[in-house]
Amino acid sequence: MPKGIFHVAKAVNEPVKSYAPNTPERKAVSEAYQKMWNEKIEVPLYIGSEEIKTGNTKNMTAPHDHQHVVGKYHLAEKSHVEKAIANALEARKNWAAMPWEQRAAIFLKAAELVAGPYRAKINAATMIAQSKNIHQAEIDAACEFIDFLRFNVEFMTQIYDDQPNSDPSMWNRVEYRPLEGFVYAITPFNFTAISGNLPASAAMMGNVVVWKPSDSQVFSAKVIIDIFKEAGVPDGVINVVFGDAEMITNTILESRDFAGIHFTGSTHVFKGIWGKIGTKINHYKTYPRIVGETGGKDFIIAHPSANPKQVSTGIVRGAFEFQGQKCSAASRAYVPKSMWNEVREQIITDVNSMKMGSPEDFGNFITAVIHESSFDKLASYIEQAKKDADAEIVVGGNYDKSKGYFVEPTVILTTNPKYKTMETELFGPVITIYVYEDEKWSETLKLVDETSEYALTGAVFSTCRYAITEATKALENSAGNFYINDKPTGAVVGMQPFGGARASGTNDKAGSMQNLLRWVSPRTIKETFVTPVDYRYPFLGE
Ligand code: NAD
Repeated sequence: MPKGIFHVAKAVNEPVKSYAPNTPERKAVSEAYQKMWNEKIEVPLYIGSEEIKTGNTKNMTAPHDHQHVVGKYHLAEKSHVEKAIANALEARKNWAAMPWEQRAAIFLKAAELVAGPYRAKINAATMIAQSKNIHQAEIDAACEFIDFLRFNVEFMTQIYDDQPNSDPSMWNRVEYRPLEGFVYAITPFNFTAISGNLPASAAMMGNVVVWKPSDSQVFSAKVIIDIFKEAGVPDGVINVVFGDAEMITNTILESRDFAGIHFTGSTHVFKGIWGKIGTKINHYKTYPRIVGETGGKDFIIAHPSANPKQVSTGIVRGAFEFQGQKCSAASRAYVPKSMWNEVREQIITDVNSMKMGSPEDFGNFITAVIHESSFDKLASYIEQAKKDADAEIVVGGNYDKSKGYFVEPTVILTTNPKYKTMETELFGPVITIYVYEDEKWSETLKLVDETSEYALTGAVFSTCRYAITEATKALENSAGNFYINDKPTGAVVGMQPFGGARASGTNDKAGSMQNLLRWVSPRTIKETFVTPVDYRYPFLGE
């Protein structure tokens, strides 16, 4: 048991390295990329202390060169998932009882491993597996992951520190117990940091976890697993299974010990899982915690007072960085007529200056989208826009999957504010713009609020404080992360806690104390020092 009231170092955000020519970090990541590109790894299931090769495998390839195989991973059967649950529950006996400072030390060590010896490797893996350019890999796989680990440890101590009042006759304490059972973490392809954070945040609070990474991210998930092992996460605390998402999920949900789900991914998948949990509610020992961050249809609205260059830069960066595959990516914009020509010209100039290709070439701003079905979906929306009378392509509109899944950054202009691509999450480098009459600013705010089912991120650009005030009020429920004069992407842990409402998720704000609170079940302990021995109260006196 702890014999001191320990303090952790104040969490600080990891500085983003530049990767400019001739920097040591550029050399290191290029070498790591080459090495990982040319070796073929094999990723087993990680269950308890075992690394299980089922023999049923799938290849891992790079989206920007889909015929290039960088390894294979093994797929779980139902029995493996059951085994992962059993191992997690066994590991819980020791893990849940482990003093918090030991857990803190493990995850702080993991942060330092990412920051130092694993930095080039986790960035290179993310460049290969998810086709991120080096800057996008660095802000995600290195910096955001480090920040999640460091800040969550600090938030954990703040939670433990939050204690009720006592008086001389009694001592009241609150213990923040891990959930009774195990937590299921399901992670998306698009952020290596999220992939590491969803199992880690629950485990940090004393929970045991079964983690299912996305099929498209196994290659970089393997680096996370290696880091957790080296940091000292004990066997069985985070068990990793790959394969048929539905079978794995159904098997997990059959367990009476299923105590919570930490999900990030698309809205329809999350709603489907929530529905299944609901039908089994009488089966579980405890009400499962359901935490999910899901899709977005994130907006930019420019007021006539805005600076057109700032608006076009917000649109271009917000929509096209990482090929628009951020849940926060700007995918619909509302521009006043008086500004449109200038914004349009600048966007065309910017997009035409962007190079597209492999992330191995550091000059490429745009690389490939994640897989063929994403490519095909994007191509079909672009083709439809070319045909529709109420849409036109302003720039981009070409795509090619012969070598990698490349889709040009594309701007669709529509005269219909409810056009399909103003409402539907496409998750690619496509933004749709609606030009509004300047005098219809207030009506347009209403339109922004009512156009999509999502409420994840959004941005207003204006130099007028009245307009900013009006937009902030009118769009109160339209975004969980609202930006004033900035692009709607790039939330930083500890600075802009991230998450949306409506169909965008449960808004439990990843990288905040609120999120960690979902992974504990407080127990209040009241201890009385001089215990009464007579039931009569003074008021009963004669
Ligand atoms: P996805 O929904 O396809 O997959 C997410 C995870 O769910 C993967 O592990 C996948 O294997 C699993 N899955 C898929 N079908 C399933 C099923 N039927 N049952 C159980 N599990 C299933 O999402 P993706 O393509 O990996 O990621 C993109 C989506 O994630 C976008 O909608 C994006 O907006 C969202 N996202 C949201 C946030 C956020 O913070 N709000 C962050 C990142 C991504």
